[in-house]
Amino acid sequence: MPISNKPQLQSPPFSINDVKVAFECPRLFYLKQSFGGDNPFLPKDYIEEIDNAFLDLANQLINMIWQESKIQVLFVGQFEGLVVGGIADKIRQLFYELIFFPYLQTIIKKDSALATALYQVWQVLTRLIFNLSKIIVKNRRYCHENVVIRRTLIMGEIPVDYTFKIPDGKTQKLTGKVNNLIFDFESRRLCLLHYQTYETLEVSSQLMAVALYSFLLKQKRKMPVDAVVYWVLPELGEYHYSWEKLENAMNSLVPNKLYQMREWLRWEEFQPDPPPSTDKKYLCDICPQKEKCQSFFDGSR
Ligand code: SF4
Repeated sequence: MPISNKPQLQSPPFSINDVKVAFECPRLFYLKQSFGGDNPFLPKDYIEEIDNAFLDLANQLINMIWQESKIQVLFVGQFEGLVVGGIADKIRQLFYELIFFPYLQTIIKKDSALATALYQVWQVLTRLIFNLSKIIVKNRRYCHENVVIRRTLIMGEIPVDYTFKIPDGKTQKLTGKVNNLIFDFESRRLCLLHYQTYETLEVSSQLMAVALYSFLLKQKRKMPVDAVVYWVLPELGEYHYSWEKLENAMNSLVPNKLYQMREWLRWEEFQPDPPPSTDKKYLCDICPQKEKCQSFFDGSR
């Protein structure tokens, strides 16, 4: 255990992102906490315009489904008569005309080389449209046509927090904000949608972050929270996490990690036993704080 002169004051809350970073690299976590900066690991071929486009278009899609009267009428009628494929096609067409095509034109006017990546964004969005249509149709069995969209797609940001008991008997508070939530009436479960442009480089830290968002939300809403992650590049994909899997990951790893995070922050420069470097060495090649890390930890990596 590190030796430290720092007094053990009441630890301030950590964010879910802090925990994610700590799973990726203890040293990066330490540097960010000590000196600031919010630089995630980005792939070498990172394109900011595509990153922004995916998140922006996904949000615009949800807003359109919520507000557009032409979409609301698609869910009118007997539940048994609603055809998911036909409804998804109509939503897709409307989204293309109203939002995606103008967006595409603006972006390729600036840089035509972005068209291919935007085509992949389009493909992920059409997949999302199909999945959303399916759940809204499913919920029509339990919900009137006038309210089914609003009760399925939950808008707005929900602040969440939870105080964990950690292995030394103390407590540690964790905070976060949750959005992009859908509700499945049949299973009585919430589901978190995570949009990310690039496939995760470090899957275990992503699983942990997703598990924490679900866990903190479950404490607030008192029902299981599944999650789906959608990504665009290098190949489009989606991954489904059940609440049971998320809960298991969370219980087995998080309390101990919170304890370690507190211990790492007690370390001071020139003392022995600094926070360890990442065990995923490929992250060092794309680390936003590589130089700082090497100079600060005296090349001990
Ligand atoms: S260079 Fe490597 S060890 Fe250092 S902070 Fe970055 S990821 Fe961690």
